[in-house]
Amino acid sequence: MNPVIELEKVSFAYEEEPVLEEVSLRIYPGDFCALIGPNGSGKSTLLKIVVGLLQPRSGRVRLFGQDLSSFRQWWRIGYVPQKVTALVDRVLPLTVYETVALGLLNKPMEKPEQAQRIAEALETVGLPGASGRLLRELSGGQQQRVFLARALVGQPEVLLLDEPTTGVDFAAQEKFYDLLGELNRRGLTILIVTHDIAMVDRHVKQVACLNRRLVFHGEHSEFCRHPEICGFFSGGHHILGHCH
Ligand code: ADP
Repeated sequence: MNPVIELEKVSFAYEEEPVLEEVSLRIYPGDFCALIGPNGSGKSTLLKIVVGLLQPRSGRVRLFGQDLSSFRQWWRIGYVPQKVTALVDRVLPLTVYETVALGLLNKPMEKPEQAQRIAEALETVGLPGASGRLLRELSGGQQQRVFLARALVGQPEVLLLDEPTTGVDFAAQEKFYDLLGELNRRGLTILIVTHDIAMVDRHVKQVACLNRRLVFHGEHSEFCRHPEICGFFSGGHHILGHCH
């Protein structure tokens, strides 16, 4: 099986200080991988490199086997950036429909097909009938699901999420992660940056630990068998007992 995302010795710096050093990582079809690490360890930067927002200083990135520089099939990748709900009040008063439609900007299609796709995406995230509502009138958890719908509406094969549940209450978080689990079971490949170690424990299949370098990448069960890595990257939370 070929990887859908492949980083080969990727290094990056915004200025002088290295942010990523020789990171090699492969994500395969069907993976549900959590990217974890301390604040400032380069997680968001790594996702931004994968979606082409930043260029690595050295190393190679391939998406679906194709070099990033020549990759154009961006609809195959859905991206939910960090703190996106915090931006909601600062933008024009968008409706739910308009927000989800942003995910189709690079996929021109007729209006009825667009409407159909948007309805399906909202159905998938459990917000059927919310189209006409103003985004800012929804709860944080509902807004987060609208942004998930925006990422899903192009029918991607891979979903990248950067701390998607920041500022969302626990019940809404659980619902959100259950939904991701369901999407993964339906075949969507997922790479998620998260601080939420309980979520890592309950929902993901693989774990990648980043601290400027990739310290560990493997199955969740294997992660649990490395107490020193597990302890450090769990921020002191003891999760070994939860590993199955
Ligand atoms: P994480 O997602 O793991 O918290 P980031 O990828 O956001 O880490 O940041 C990695 C490092 O790069 C941090 O030291 C951060 O301060 C720095 N950094 C992030 N974005 C920028 C930027 N736009 N300009 C300069 N430095 C940045």
